[in-house]
Amino acid sequence: MTRAAFSYDFPHRHLISVADLNPVDIRIIFERAAHWLAVNRTPDKSSDVLKGLTVLNLFFEASTRTQGSFEMAGKRLGADVVNFAVAHSSASKGESLSDTARTLAAMRPDIMVVRHSATGAPRFLAERTGLAVVNAGDGMHEHPTQALLDSFTLAQHWGEVGGKRILIVGDILHSRVARSNIGLLNILGAEIRLCAPPTLLPSDVDQWGCDVFHDLDEALQDCDAVMALRQQKERMSGGFVPSAREFFHLFGLTHERLEVCSPDVLVMHPGPMNRGTEIHTKLADDPEKSVILEQVESGVAVRMAVLELIGETIRRDFGNRETGQ
Ligand code: ASP
Repeated sequence: MTRAAFSYDFPHRHLISVADLNPVDIRIIFERAAHWLAVNRTPDKSSDVLKGLTVLNLFFEASTRTQGSFEMAGKRLGADVVNFAVAHSSASKGESLSDTARTLAAMRPDIMVVRHSATGAPRFLAERTGLAVVNAGDGMHEHPTQALLDSFTLAQHWGEVGGKRILIVGDILHSRVARSNIGLLNILGAEIRLCAPPTLLPSDVDQWGCDVFHDLDEALQDCDAVMALRQQKERMSGGFVPSAREFFHLFGLTHERLEVCSPDVLVMHPGPMNRGTEIHTKLADDPEKSVILEQVESGVAVRMAVLELIGETIRRDFGNRETGQ
């Protein structure tokens, strides 16, 4: 499969925050993701849209879904994909982030996919290296491709996400998934509800444009989708919740609880999920309600779309430089 002719010049070289995207950018990403979703369901998934480009996966934090799907996305698009093993790198010998990045940039990759525990690391690397950077999760800040794949999954069911009522429940305080989803769902015009104990909500939550609840049964009323979040224990410095058992009792998703939602409610989780803490295992595996594995499938397609569009920008910028435009 060869490169598509684009009628829209995607104006971004980086994807660092959902706030960088406008509704047209999002529509184009979803259109291309729908294309790749269909391609990925055929036995011939290979394409050459990124042929000649090198994608560097630079993950300073653990990842299964995100790293695996970026790798698969890059490979299916014909890029050379290098997974940089941070645990065995000079970073573990005390090299600064800036030096590691500039060293890697000197090898002339084209796109750097970055996950880091520090907020702002992807933007810092974009500025330092001049490479195209995709944020694959920075601390508690943002995870833009997760939000895109979540809304894309919902749009596959509904057509439009705008006007729907979506509840995000759990550890909102520490969640970059929540922050990116709230940003994107606001752009798309959804009604957003948040539900968490006060200890797991940020102090400025009233400025986020969401309705905030502490009681899950109240929050679930007439929702069209519910997204459970993982408790980010790695970002908790003390006891934010009494026990996993009590958390499940108050904030865990179950079939019984969902009875007050819209009858076609969709259940989501970005993974990795803790069964019995955030969601009942039967609900997680319910093929009628749970779209958790669809989210994973959408993740590859959305990341293909993002890499493809950024690849187009790189080629266009290069062409313009060559012709002095
Ligand atoms: N995989 C998501 C992230 O990296 C969610 C999680 O880890 O809980 O933020």
